[in-house]
Amino acid sequence: RAQKVLQDRAFANEKIDFLWNSTVEEFVGDGSKITGVRVKDVNTGEVTTHDADGVFIYVGLLPVSDPFKDLNITDAEGWIVTNEQMETSIPGIFAVGDVRQKTLRQITTAVGDGGQAGHMVYNYVEEVKEKLAK
Ligand SMILES: Cc1cc2nc3c(=O)[nH]c(=O)nc-3n(C[C@H](O)[C@H](O)[C@H](O)COP(=O)(O)OP(=O)(O)OC[C@H]3O[C@@H](n4cnc5c(N)ncnc54)[C@H](O)[C@@H]3O)c2cc1C
Repeated sequence: RAQKVLQDRAFANEKIDFLWNSTVEEFVGDGSKITGVRVKDVNTGEVTTHDADGVFIYVGLLPVSDPFKDLNITDAEGWIVTNEQMETSIPGIFAVGDVRQKTLRQITTAVGDGGQAGHMVYNYVEEVKEKLAK
């Protein structure tokens, strides 16, 4: 799932081995430090132990979108779906930043989202005010 350029760099690095379709079962240690990692192949069920001097844990990303899960505005993974104007499918509900379904989650993109959403929220509030005044 990594960017292609990062995949290529990793595949070209002779020091990196890849274990596909596997989950970590256990970190093995000698009482004072890590000595290995026990890994299970999820297809075959085979458990193997791999020597290791240390581990770096990367847990991935989870969208914090629970309050919105019943509104039908999230995708299967929980990211909130918007158009380029940051509008969800529900008028008046906007989403910006990391919680949004998008490819690059960075400060720059979050700030851009915020600027766009601010503009759209202003327009939306003005429209609602006009309707209420009629
Ligand atoms: C380890 C790490 C390193 C990163 N390094 C970089 C980098 O070098 N450069 C870069 O551009 N980006 C970097 N990023 C990404 C960047 O931090 C995010 O893209 C950016 O912070 C997204 O901003 P945001 O406002 O969408 O979300 P966040 O910054 O996550 O802000 C969301 C806020 O909402 C709050 N919140 C959540 N749920 C609720 C709720 N129910 N009620 C009230 N508040 C709530 C949270 O507590 C949080 O304060 C990094 C991210 C991580 C995790």
